Order: sequence, then structure tokens, then C-alpha cells
Amino acid sequence: MDSAGTGPATGPVAGPPGHSRLASAVVPYYYPSQSEQAYLEHRTRLVRRSFPHALGVDDFMQRVEVALHAFGFSGDNSIAMVNLCRDEVTMTLKQRIDRVFGSSFNTNGLGGVLTCGVSGVRAGLSHAPVCAATGAERYVFFSFPHISIDARGVKGAISRPGRPGQSCACGALRGALEAIRGAGLASACKVPGVHEPLDPEMSILLQRLARRLRYEGVGEAEARDAESLDLVRITQVAERTITDDLEYLISRTVDAERADYAIVTGVQIHSWSPRFEDEVPNLEFVAPSTVDVVVRGVKTHIDLLSLPAITPRQAELLAAEHEHGERHGAGAGARSANGAARRAVCASVAGTTVREVEAPYLYRSPDGDKAQRLARLVVHAPRVSADSCPWPAWQSRLRAREPHRADDSSVHMDDEHGEANVKGNK
Ligand SMILES: [Zn+2]
Repeated sequence: MDSAGTGPATGPVAGPPGHSRLASAVVPYYYPSQSEQAYLEHRTRLVRRSFPHALGVDDFMQRVEVALHAFGFSGDNSIAMVNLCRDEVTMTLKQRIDRVFGSSFNTNGLGGVLTCGVSGVRAGLSHAPVCAATGAERYVFFSFPHISIDARGVKGAISRPGRPGQSCACGALRGALEAIRGAGLASACKVPGVHEPLDPEMSILLQRLARRLRYEGVGEAEARDAESLDLVRITQVAERTITDDLEYLISRTVDAERADYAIVTGVQIHSWSPRFEDEVPNLEFVAPSTVDVVVRGVKTHIDLLSLPAITPRQAELLAAEHEHGERHGAGAGARSANGAARRAVCASVAGTTVREVEAPYLYRSPDGDKAQRLARLVVHAPRVSADSCPWPAWQSRLRAREPHRADDSSVHMDDEHGEANVKGNK
């Protein structure tokens, strides 16, 4: 499995010793160099300080696919019910789930909080494929709050394409953490079910986390102590909270007599470069927690860590297959600053396999590289107009003569004063 040490110290695409003639005759698969292996092991250890069982995202998905297939779940016979944070960076995991199980039904909320209720879950279940022979259905529930631990090991820090400065993941969980630290647990534990009309998800997330902390025995002093309650811990608390909420919703919606289902939960971890467009590889991890299957009413706990890791060669094959489909033959790997395709870094380290990620939008894209280059060049043309289309021009033809809807005084966002405007109340 681990090809490090068997390959050359340099040269990204050479085969193992003794196979050079063969390697030149067949597709030259990737063998990581020792420096690459050491680097990726260092990056993995930075993540595992906080999440000891974190796996590379491709390795994680491969293990999930193999384990669930052993219990009868596949992309052909199951629907994936995916619950992630609304943040666009969570797409790196959703794409991998979709590749295995097809287009998924999402129940996303801020911080991953579940607000869709039984109607949302039932809607997804009603879209599941039905076994022609038995009428049975299969569901695979995925649920992951997320956190960033960047390439330096800074918790919460993430860079985003086209956006200068440091950003945060998860911003919603950090917001809840700051609210609890600032105002205390008691003020966040309002009457169950009550939410802010203008901020429903955030207020539900805050309340659910505060109640869970109190349930787990955290007192006011501990909740306000930044050393004790940090972003990693609140993310782990969020994972337990949301997993319990998901299991409760499943108990109220799934008919185990008629359907088999699986639950896969944990924490999604982004380990990206502090500067999005530089050469530092963006890595993605998942720290699994609950992996259960319920087949014919019998629940089985699955230990994903007992499965072997995907090999670097298999990771490259999967990436090449996916990228061929999504990028029309651009090939596996990222792009260098001059836009040329280059191999993504990939190696087996510490019981998992880690490979640089590239999402199909903006991540290390030629467009991103071009934007960086033009940003450097623009100092030579400081007077250039930023308008792509002169004004006035044809824009005036786009104006409609009337607004699409007349202004009214309907009820906005549960505004209690709007009740007076309801027809019949006047
Ligand atoms: Zn988030």
C-alpha cells in the first residue's frame, strides 16, 4: 500500500525501481517522493492534534463506499441525504458523496444545524429509488459540521478565492461560540423551539449548542473560558448535537420495516493554504464519528478505521476519472502559476492517504492564476477604466416600466405588527 521509499527521491511520475522499462510502456502512475511523504505527514499531524482519527477525504469516501456496499447500499439503489454547513467550501465533500451515491437531497443549515424538520426529511426519503422486486428503499444519511485547520495549524483560519485576508470556518460555529462566551449559557438557553424571526437558523443553532453544553455538564465559568471551550470543542459538541438531532428525525420519519438505512457522521476539516493562490496544497480531511447501518431493522456499528486505506495509485485513478469527466480531460492534478497542468501531491501517511484537492470552481484554476497575474500588472496601467460596458448604453433597454409586484404591507418575517394588515383583520 505504502510506496514511499520504493520510489525515487525526486521525479514525480517514475515507477518503482526495476520497473522503468515497464513504466515507460504503460500509464506512469504516481509514486510519492520521500519529501512529499514527509510534508503530507506533517500536514496530517497538524490536523490530528485536534482530530486524532481524521482521514484524507478520498480515503474516507472510499472506505464508506466499500463498507456500505457490503451491507447492500450503492449509488443505484440508495438516496444520499446530506447535511452540511451552507458554506460553499463544504462542496468538496458533497461532490465526493455525489460521485458515489448520485445527486443528493440536502438538508443543510448554518453550522450544519438541522432545521428542515420531519417534512424536509420525508421529502428526501420520498425521492429514493424503490427496489422493483421487494418495494424496499435505502437511504444513506451523511451529516458533518466543519472546521478549518490551515496549513500552519491555525484553527478556524481559511483563505477564499478572490477574497483578501483571512476568513473563518465555521463562521456560524464561531459566532455561536462568541455569543456563549460573551453572554453565557443561561442567556442562550431560551424556551425550546423559540427562534429569532430575522435569524432563525443561527438562533436555533445557538440554543441547541448551549443546551447540549449544559447537558454535558459544562458550567457558566467553563463556557466563558476560551482555553476550555474553543472552536475545536464547540465543533465536536455541534457534531454530537446534530447527530442526535438527525437520529431523532430518522426515528420519526423512517419506516425500518420498509427501508434499510445508514448514518455516517463526523467533522469535515479543511486544511488549506493561508493564501489561496500560492503553491501550498489545499487538503481535505474527515474525522468520522458515527457509522451505522440498519438492515432489516438490525443495527450494526461499523469501524471505518479497521478498513485499509486507499492506495495513492487508486487515489490518482479516482481523481483522473472524476477530473476527466468534470474538466474534459484536463487531467489529474492542480495547475502551476503559469497555467500548466501539474501533478497534485499525494501520499499514504499515518494510516490514511491524502491527496491535494481541486474543486471545479476557482480552486487553483487558470482563471485564478490569471487574476493574480493581472493584479500585479495593473500597476502599469493605473488609469484603466474598470467599466466593462460603457454607460449609458443598452442597459436602459433592460428597465421594465413597472415594478413586477406592487408594494404591499404584507407580513414580513413573522413581524407581529404585520398581523394588523391581514385582510379580514381590518
Ligand atoms: Zn460553516
